[in-house]
Amino acid sequence: MDFTLSGEAGERSRQSIPGGVNSPVRAFSAVDAPQIFAASGSGARLTDLDGNSYVDYLMCWGALILGHADPEVTAAIAEAAARGTGYGLSTGPESELAELIREAVPTIELLRMVNSGTEAVMSAIRVARGYTGRDAIIKFDGCYHGHSDALLAKAGSGLRTFGLPSSAGVPEDFTRHTLVARYNDLESVEQICAVRGDDVAAILVEPVAGNMGVVAPQQGFLQGLREIADRIGAVLIFDEVITGFRVGWGGAQGLYGVAPDMICLGKIIGGGLPVGAFGGRAEIMRCLAPEGPVYQAGTLSGNPVVVAAGNATLRRLRDEQPHDELSDRAARLAECVTSTAEAAGVPVRVERVGPMFTIYFADHPVTDADSAARADFDCYGRFFRLLLERGVLLPPSGHETAFVSTCHTDDVIEESAAALSDALRALPQT
Ligand SMILES: *Cc1c(COP(=O)(O)O)cnc(C)c1O
Repeated sequence: MDFTLSGEAGERSRQSIPGGVNSPVRAFSAVDAPQIFAASGSGARLTDLDGNSYVDYLMCWGALILGHADPEVTAAIAEAAARGTGYGLSTGPESELAELIREAVPTIELLRMVNSGTEAVMSAIRVARGYTGRDAIIKFDGCYHGHSDALLAKAGSGLRTFGLPSSAGVPEDFTRHTLVARYNDLESVEQICAVRGDDVAAILVEPVAGNMGVVAPQQGFLQGLREIADRIGAVLIFDEVITGFRVGWGGAQGLYGVAPDMICLGKIIGGGLPVGAFGGRAEIMRCLAPEGPVYQAGTLSGNPVVVAAGNATLRRLRDEQPHDELSDRAARLAECVTSTAEAAGVPVRVERVGPMFTIYFADHPVTDADSAARADFDCYGRFFRLLLERGVLLPPSGHETAFVSTCHTDDVIEESAAALSDALRALPQT
């Protein structure tokens, strides 16, 4: 496989952009592979600058549930852009997007659009603090909630991929109120609450973890958080930036039947354009200016082009209800990997929730950040490179999530299953 043009683009980008990337994991250093530059995408496939084509399981980190360049979504974007790319004023379609989201996630009574998942979680926390008059938040080791200062403690893939416990440039004072518990461990939450319970504004969690690799919530974990939040008077926030509209039309809260007070969205609701949203109980959301005292704003928030892409995407998901099929297809890949690995004598655990999955090279169950971190990431890198040669693009870090889109049809899945099997069988020789 030839990566000459991607290599040249990499050299050029490193002259002007730190590390040659606008987001660290794109450097592919975690998998010791050439940094790929994307040229185009269509459906389930991505083509790089050198003309190499891959079945794409990165899918823009989960944002593209309808695949690359879906004709309806791109038409909606073009139509909206032709009318003006932004006004800094309200537009009608913003209400349609809000209504579609509320229809899917009934615990959201009011919501506000922002421009990224980072901004959504940062703003949700500010509202929770304003509402409760408290400062502390509880988050979980390995969960990522964007790169805002207070949330860069033990924040999953981006940091773990590069061996960093937390980020430089964040004053200790800024994370003083960030208390870190262990995922799937209610006792670790109780221990924090025993000391700081009266000071906790919010418990913030990825209801299915996707940023240490996929880690499913164990039976009773989310319900337990609900009960603890109620007892100590804290706001329960589900960060569904990945899981929203991904694990089902109603997201993770629909899947597990646990209702948070607030929810953060991103990725899918922007149809592949930059987006975030946060919402929840009206009583809490009414703390926001102009109705309440919590300030939050954005020049391009609710941008008409983004909203058009989001509406086109969510309408399709509502009408076509593809989630069961997406799950089945991911399950088929997972089964293929598990059975081939067993036959090849390679220790593998595939953790999967609906259409999102991670292949861990490990022989222990993965239930939290520590057990995820004990997987063999050198092996993942070798596997990643073998797959690249076989025309399959997995996420460029073993701490990330692979996604199946509606364009990953049966044929595509079969083709990928063959490539995955072949790469697994080749793995012991590398
Ligand atoms: C991607 C992600 C974010 C951050 O979203 P950005 O749009 O990258 O800022 C926050 N939380 C979770 C769970 C995510 O997966």
